Amino acid sequence: MPDHTDQTKTEQINTDQTTSEQINTDQTTSDRSSRTPSATRFRATVLGYPRIGPHRELKRALEQFWAGEISTGDLTAVGHALRRADRAQLHAAGLDSIPVNTFSYYDHVLDTAVMLGAIPARFAGTPDGLDRYFAMARGGSDTAPLEMTKWFDTNYHYLVPEIAADTAFALHPEKVLEDLAEAVADGIPARPVILGPVSFLLLAKPAGADGRNRSARRSRWPGERGTVRHGGVRLLDRLDEILPLYADLLSLLAAGGAQWVQLDEPALVADRTPAEIDAARRAYADLSSREHRPAILAACYFGGLGDAAPALAGTDIDGLAVDLVEGTVDALAGAPGLSDKLVVAGVVDGRNIWRTDPDRALGTLATVLGLAGAVAVGTSCSLLHVPYSLAPETRIDPQVASWLAFAGEKVAEVTMLSAALNGDADAVSDRLTAARAAVRDRRAARSVHDAVVGDRLASLRDNDFRRGPATARAAAQAVRVPLPPLPTTTIGSFPQTPSIRRARAGLRNGSVDQAAYDEMMRAEIADVIALQEELGLDVLVHGEPERNDMVQYFAERLRGFAFTDHGWVQSYGSRCVRPPILFGDVSRPGPITVPWSSYAQSLTDKPVKGMLTGPVTILAWSFVRDDQPLGVTARQVALALRDETLDLQAAGIRIIQVDEPALRELLPLRERDRMAYLDWAVSSFRLATAGLADSTAVHTHLCYSEFGEVIGAIDELDADVTSLEAARSHMEVLDDLNAVGYSRGVGPGVWDIHSPRVPSTAEITDALTRALAAVPADRLWVNPDCGLKTRGPVETRAALANLVQAARAVRTG
Ligand code: GLN
Ligand code: ZN
Repeated sequence: MPDHTDQTKTEQINTDQTTSEQINTDQTTSDRSSRTPSATRFRATVLGYPRIGPHRELKRALEQFWAGEISTGDLTAVGHALRRADRAQLHAAGLDSIPVNTFSYYDHVLDTAVMLGAIPARFAGTPDGLDRYFAMARGGSDTAPLEMTKWFDTNYHYLVPEIAADTAFALHPEKVLEDLAEAVADGIPARPVILGPVSFLLLAKPAGADGRNRSARRSRWPGERGTVRHGGVRLLDRLDEILPLYADLLSLLAAGGAQWVQLDEPALVADRTPAEIDAARRAYADLSSREHRPAILAACYFGGLGDAAPALAGTDIDGLAVDLVEGTVDALAGAPGLSDKLVVAGVVDGRNIWRTDPDRALGTLATVLGLAGAVAVGTSCSLLHVPYSLAPETRIDPQVASWLAFAGEKVAEVTMLSAALNGDADAVSDRLTAARAAVRDRRAARSVHDAVVGDRLASLRDNDFRRGPATARAAAQAVRVPLPPLPTTTIGSFPQTPSIRRARAGLRNGSVDQAAYDEMMRAEIADVIALQEELGLDVLVHGEPERNDMVQYFAERLRGFAFTDHGWVQSYGSRCVRPPILFGDVSRPGPITVPWSSYAQSLTDKPVKGMLTGPVTILAWSFVRDDQPLGVTARQVALALRDETLDLQAAGIRIIQVDEPALRELLPLRERDRMAYLDWAVSSFRLATAGLADSTAVHTHLCYSEFGEVIGAIDELDADVTSLEAARSHMEVLDDLNAVGYSRGVGPGVWDIHSPRVPSTAEITDALTRALAAVPADRLWVNPDCGLKTRGPVETRAALANLVQAARAVRTG
């Protein structure tokens, strides 16, 4: 048992008068510096808050605004009301420093780009204001939007700022000043939150870098863009241009009544070069030396701090927010300058939904107390990544619900821990008791632990992860499913038509019964099969009409998952997702996809692919239990999928595709953690698929481009055919696959399905000809970049017709 769960230690903290008094009477940072005379150290905060609205008010307002149904004034009124309500709630809950400027009409990185005047030239003609802001986010009539990519290893997407050689940075502080002024007027102790200068540059890309630059593309990783020598451009070299703007901003914030400012530097938790660490040191030494400024809190989250800790602690900043859920206190021990700083100890998980173990958290806080000038309790990162509140949930089993904390509940955890840390444990003793009971109950719960699953996992042998030799498989598959060279296929989903959506809504609200719904889905499947036969595709799909979402669909049919009614989390802009909650051992009560796939296969002599979502992707797009290693959970999911593959095979399905679009997404930020991740990611995929006969073909599909460091792992998945997003990266992925010795079937996407544009036969022929330079015809497949569910039926038919034409043209050469 780790010592941070030691009960005695907690009691020590609760009753340690000296410590509490030290904190209680701790004066301000002004003791040390006349620059920040009024900055009082606070005790309880969160690093950020959800912003889409408890009932997705912002989503609705944005979509109405974009549709021209409401005015700018209507939209900003919604924003104002949401900010005001959230601030008031956080204040009433007992936080003594409230983050502001965490609200955004689309994305906080875009907000920062606008604040610094980093407006790409193509938007220069658009008058500034919300119209230009949304044009940058979503594209204008003939201007492409900023590129969007994942925010570190989360499911949130940010807009990638573009910085050109001639970008003339200039400060536009209106948004943050307005948020601050609103809060000050309401009497709120507001702490503006702003993306810090180092992370801003590291997250940006040089204007004109479109991913074609090979070296840039290969090493790109969210949060590391600035490191990459995009054709020799290092954006961190622009630091000196933006630091004066940040300094001006700090002085405006101080004048506007901010005692503290939070500068977010999540990029500093990824691997950084000494030069980058030095840039961070220089930036914060500069900003903290400025005359007029609030107290500066640098916030580094999504992992442990490493080398950046001593660099930041060695400057005159006033506080450091650290992630003690994904990181440990070890890095702080090596940062001596902390003894006169406030450490905001992120002991409450900001991105997962489990209730905090109070004893464990208090143990960690005790350690931090020994290292820092003062300690405030905080969240590990912004609460942007969790739903607002558990209160409206009715669908979650009450026992499971008692183990959870969403944003509102996490705020209460912060104040509870802060009270306990500050010698006021009595006042929160009921809450502490309840929290301890919930943690104990979760550990012991029968619904979490399934002995059958445990036994199955324990009895796995090496052979369960291995198939026969690839050449033998290819020979067996060629006999069972003869195919022409360059076989044509699709990735799985066909357009989710209004009638499919209507049927699903009807099923939900009771106006359509299950039998009628199933009948509608079968009709859809029959249409999709007929269409593919008419177009002449070689390997067909059933179209996935029955799936609302490729993860939720499976989660709802497996044991070990719970679901929310209102647990929405922002994915990007107005888009929200409602991740399932994986709380217990996973198993499969019965076949999931078999009836649909068999029905589809019964309609045609051509092979129909069975279609499953892989274990890594199921984990990546759910809230996952934190009480066992992810690799163990992944194996449980893999075993459930393995059962499904065997049932599909028994039902006569000859090709089974297991999608892993999220393989790249979960890759750890630090190099040293990557091997272990790739190891369990690959082995769970293999466990899911290796039960199949040699004559059954295993396909996999990956997207979100930039495969970079996972390319070797893609080979190790050992799929017979791998389809990948490639249309935008010009087939370069094929050379990368060759470089790691990949020698099985490959389908580089020849149609960029993210755009409504229909590629011509000539274009596709051209792409295939280029692909053939890297891959022999007997290994090359012809398919789109990804599933077609967001495309319309008209463009789908046209593009697939061209795709089949092109394959035929290239075959006959
Ligand atoms: N089979 C899925 C589909 O076609 C794959 C989706 C994805 O890669 N994101 O929709
Ligand atoms: Zn895809």
